[in-house]
Amino acid sequence: MPELPEIETLRRDLSELMIGKSIKGVSVANRRSIRAHSTSGEFEQPLLGAQIREIRRKGKFLSIAVSSHYRESFALVAHMGMSGQLRSFANRSDIPKHSHVVFELSDQSLIVFVDPRTFGQLYLDELDKSGLATSLSRLGIDPINQPELIYEALQGCMDRKTGIKWMLLDQSHLCGIGNMYADEILFRAGVRFDRPCQTLRAEEVLAIADSISEVLNAAIISRGSSLRDLQYRDVAGGLGGYQSMHQAYGREGLECMRCHGIVERMFFNGRSSFLCRSCQR
Ligand SMILES: [Zn+2]
Repeated sequence: MPELPEIETLRRDLSELMIGKSIKGVSVANRRSIRAHSTSGEFEQPLLGAQIREIRRKGKFLSIAVSSHYRESFALVAHMGMSGQLRSFANRSDIPKHSHVVFELSDQSLIVFVDPRTFGQLYLDELDKSGLATSLSRLGIDPINQPELIYEALQGCMDRKTGIKWMLLDQSHLCGIGNMYADEILFRAGVRFDRPCQTLRAEEVLAIADSISEVLNAAIISRGSSLRDLQYRDVAGGLGGYQSMHQAYGREGLECMRCHGIVERMFFNGRSSFLCRSCQR
C-alpha cells in the first residue's frame, strides 16, 4: 500500500504534468473507483473544462484543486488504497488493464487511475479556507516539514495502553504512516512495535519523532519504496528506490544491520511487523 513518501512522489510528478492544463475529457470505466458518487455523470460533469490549479497532499491523500466556469474552485481527491496508481500515457492504446478512470488533458496527454484491487478511490469535494479538500480535515498532523508538531502529536497519546505501532498507524494523530514505514521508524528508534505508549520514556518519544522525519524524508528523496508483492509505480511506471535502504521491513531471517542478530517477523492484530528483538525494546 502506498504511504506518504510514495504519494508525495506522485504529487510532485503530477504537478509537473497537470498544473495549468485543463481537463478535456473524463471517462469512468469502473464505478467502484468513484463510489462516493451516485452516478458517473456526477463525477465527470463538473470536471469537464476545469483547470488544474494546485496539487497538495495530506497523509496518503492527494487534493487536486481545480476551477471551472460553472463551479468555483473545488477539489478532486485521490486515495490509492492498496494498489492504486495515477499513471501518464500518451496514447489510449498504451493504457493497461484495470484502468478505471481516464482523464484527457488539454495537451492530449492522458492521466489514468489504474487500480487492480479497487480499494482506491477518486471523489469531488469542497475546498476549505486553506485550499485543501474539506474531507481531509479529519486527518491528524502531516509529519512533513513540521517536526515540532510530530513530537506534540506523540506526546498527546503517551497516556495510552495501546502499542506504539497502532498509534503510528492511526491516521487521526499523525497521517501518512502505514505498516511498512512504521516498522522502519520503530527499528531506527530502537522501540518494539508492541511497547505500550504509557511505558515510553521521554527520550524514546523523542527518538521516534526524529525517526519519523528522518525515514519519511529519506524515502521521499529515494522516490518511495516498491516491493515485490505491492503495486507501487510512479507516474511514468518507474519503481521507487528506498526498498534497498530498508533495515527492518521485508528483511525476515536476514542479519540485523546493527547488532548482527536476526530480523524477525511477528504477527499481531492481523498485521505483520518486522523487528530485531535485541535492538528494539
Ligand atoms: Zn539488531
